[in-house]
Amino acid sequence: MDILKIEDLSKVYGKGVTEVKALDRVSFSVKKGEFVVIIGPSGSGKSTLLHLLGGVDRPTSGNVFIDNTNIYELDETQLAIFRRRQIGLIYQFYNLIPILTVEENITLPVLLDGHKVDGKQLDEIVRILGLKERLSHLPNQLSGGQQQRVSIGRALISNPAIILADEPTGNLDSKNSSEIMELLKMFNKTFNQTLIVITHDERIALQADRVISIEDGRIAKDEVLHP
Ligand code: ADP
Ligand code: ADP
Repeated sequence: MDILKIEDLSKVYGKGVTEVKALDRVSFSVKKGEFVVIIGPSGSGKSTLLHLLGGVDRPTSGNVFIDNTNIYELDETQLAIFRRRQIGLIYQFYNLIPILTVEENITLPVLLDGHKVDGKQLDEIVRILGLKERLSHLPNQLSGGQQQRVSIGRALISNPAIILADEPTGNLDSKNSSEIMELLKMFNKTFNQTLIVITHDERIALQADRVISIEDGRIAKDEVLHP
């Protein structure tokens, strides 16, 4: 089953002489449970693609279907709700809320939707992420690797259709980077959690099931490494 389908996605910034075609009719699909890396040099359109997949920006043309919902047919309010439930975002610089505790940061997406947190699920996520003793700490009391684990927890808590990670290890040393990748792969393999990682790091690409290379806003290569 395709959990994500992108059709003829284009994004143009600016007008006339300043016009930049950041994405040019990009199409691909991702199956439920796949681990896909999207790789490309600086300026190739990765951030633009990430923002369009994440429902953060709107395309110039084309469609994004996530779990059969055409996300750009939703209005702003519906899109905000859809994003919190179905898209788990992980950023290079964690984007945690500094005045909230670890537990509050992780559970925020569920609370914002007015739902109750499933205590068993929270316990399991926290245990796997090794954050049990850190639940009442604030983000600035944690190491970078721990902060990224909190943001993984926040991304997973609403059982999203896809996890979208933007250079998730870009700010970490090699030991913490491999730990974070191992955790992401564990959730991908054990819980069949679809995982899309955007990076320029070849070492991360080698760990994926499939690698999509983008250059100048187009797909240059789409390779299955581990079928
Ligand atoms: P990457 O993330 O791979 O570095 P981007 O998606 O940021 O690539 O950029 C793709 C192209 O679009 C680049 O030429 C960049 O300068 C341009 N671009 C990105 N965002 C904007 C913007 N907000 N306004 C104008 N041009 C932009
Ligand atoms: P990243 O490290 O995520 O690739 P970038 O340096 O490509 O970051 O872009 C950082 C931000 O600046 C993004 O929000 C992008 O949309 C914006 N941006 C990138 N290029 C341009 C540009 N030429 N003009 C205006 N905004 C840009």
